Amino acid sequence: MHEMSIAQSILQMAEEHMARHGCSRLEKVSVTYGALSGIVPESLQFCFEAMVRDTAHQGARLELVELPLRLRCHACEHVFGGNGQEALWQACPQCGEEFGHTVEQGKECYLNSIEAG
Ligand SMILES: [Zn+2]
Repeated sequence: MHEMSIAQSILQMAEEHMARHGCSRLEKVSVTYGALSGIVPESLQFCFEAMVRDTAHQGARLELVELPLRLRCHACEHVFGGNGQEALWQACPQCGEEFGHTVEQGKECYLNSIEAG
C-alpha cells in the first residue's frame, strides 16, 4: 500500500530528528503535501495511527497540511492555481491556453515540524 510506505518514512524521519535531540516519544508530526503528491490524507492518517499503535509513540498525532497547486502558463507566464488534482486541467485564466502548464508547486511532500518529548 502506497500510504503505508509514506507513513513509514514519515515516522522514520521523525525518529531521526528525535534521536538527534535526545527525544524518545513522538507527540505530533506535521507534514506538508502538495495536491499532486498522490497522498490521500484519510488513508495516510489511518496508516500512521496503525503504525504508532502499541509502540512508544502511541497516541502521536499526524497533522497534514495541503499545499495548493500552482501552475505557470507556458504561453504567457501567468501563474495561477487551485485546490485539488482537477485544478491541473484548467485553462489559463489570462490567455485561455489549455495545455503545457508547468507545475511550480503541488508535488512536494515533506516533514514540516515535530513535537516530541
Ligand atoms: Zn496564459
